[in-house]
Amino acid sequence: MSQNSDNKVLDKNFKLMAMSAVVLLILFVYTLYKGGSHIEGGSYYLGIGFLFILLFVALIVKMKQDKLKEYFNKNKKNSAFGTQLEQSKANASNEDLNTNIHAVNSNVTFKDVAGIKEIKEELEEVVDFLNEPQKYLKHGVKLPKGVILVGPPGVGKTLIARAVAGEADVPFFYQSGASFVQIYVGMGAKKVRELFAKAKQNAPAIVFIDEIDAVGKKRSGTSNDERESTLNELLTQMDGFEGDSGVIVMAATNKVEVLDEALLRAGRFDRRVHVGLPNIEDRKKILELYLDGKNHEINIEQLSIDTTGFSSAALSTLINEALLNMIKRKSKILDSDDIEIAKNKLQFGKKQIKILDEKQKEILSIYQASKAFISKTKVSLFDESIEKISATYPSYHELCENIKRDLAGFIGVEVIKKEKYAINHKDLEDADTLADEIVNKYKMSNSKEELLNNIKNDLRAELSHNADEINRLKEIMLKNEVITTNDI
Ligand code: ADP
Repeated sequence: MSQNSDNKVLDKNFKLMAMSAVVLLILFVYTLYKGGSHIEGGSYYLGIGFLFILLFVALIVKMKQDKLKEYFNKNKKNSAFGTQLEQSKANASNEDLNTNIHAVNSNVTFKDVAGIKEIKEELEEVVDFLNEPQKYLKHGVKLPKGVILVGPPGVGKTLIARAVAGEADVPFFYQSGASFVQIYVGMGAKKVRELFAKAKQNAPAIVFIDEIDAVGKKRSGTSNDERESTLNELLTQMDGFEGDSGVIVMAATNKVEVLDEALLRAGRFDRRVHVGLPNIEDRKKILELYLDGKNHEINIEQLSIDTTGFSSAALSTLINEALLNMIKRKSKILDSDDIEIAKNKLQFGKKQIKILDEKQKEILSIYQASKAFISKTKVSLFDESIEKISATYPSYHELCENIKRDLAGFIGVEVIKKEKYAINHKDLEDADTLADEIVNKYKMSNSKEELLNNIKNDLRAELSHNADEINRLKEIMLKNEVITTNDI
């Protein structure tokens, strides 16, 4: 929108100049015609000279339109965060900034992040805010200060954060959570202070804290060790700047449940983005990206089906290993044998990658299909937990329904495969915790064991009665790696 409006301003200026030049030209010709030989040489040349200068300037403005627009944009971005910037610069000067904390200019954009369309869309707002702060600030809208990316390793959390910085063309400050955990008390906290001071100094900017759980684990409340003082400093720093400072803090973790609740409170990391393992479509796009420009005979469609369970990073390693094999056999064309050899290497080598065979994929599909059937919500093949009913004052029935959602996967597999499988122990733990609350906290029931057994028996009856439906949903899951509400 701002680019368009800047273009419009420039176009208007150009038109005005061109029109003035034309009017002057007409006036000039008219005076020439009227005045004839009375015109004095000096004023004649002055007029001609002025006309040419005007036309020349108009032409330059038109030609350099893009450069000028960029300049205006940059100025606008910095001045929007101006007041805060001055303040933080003053604060920063009191700090010792002689650290190794440096920003990089990210050259990654969303184009380099294949697939995961929904996640990119979710983060576009952050990019837009950094690009055009005025659009939000004039309405008094503040964006979340912190965005936490939750997902397993290698799914592109760092890449996404870099792409946000790249899209917004702002400096990117990378720190891993572990780097804050120092041996000497107070050093970690000092590093956190310095990181934020530097970021504010360079605002608008993105701060990215990778594996934040290293520093952000729940505080025990008994000891006040180095890690806790570092976490306290992180909380203080996040409170210490306003949403209009132009600093957005992004963080990544694969264990959000171990994080201290204070970190996830409003005004800190209050936006959560889940980045799961890539689905079939995503894997196809990622493979296309990695094979782009390479001479190959690979059926990308088939390979994306055969790589269920691979993270994006694993796909990148797979193609790299396959290319190494191609070079080793002195060929110039990558083929499916290279991929097979690379796959075996990865499965049994040092960088073990979990590859799901057909049977494992079927079990996981029945497990997730049963959850989708019971909860009537969208479920993907690699989802680790399911959407729950969240009510401020949940009824007994709603609490039991949430236990059902936890246990549906296990019981579904047991009913369909006539055998118990060890899939996701977290389901059992969650069901147990909730049953415990029903019995011991809210005194809604007398016995936890009895409650859980009743729920399991209900589930067995409901799922075996609907076995055909579960099998139908399983087939959809096998094909699409997702079951949507339309499928249920
Ligand atoms: P995480 O931070 O989740 O552990 P990274 O961002 O470090 O994952 O990803 C590791 C590598 O995997 C990246 O450097 C990139 O090569 C590749 N990668 C991850 N996600 C994608 C994606 N969506 N598109 C293309 N490459 C990806």
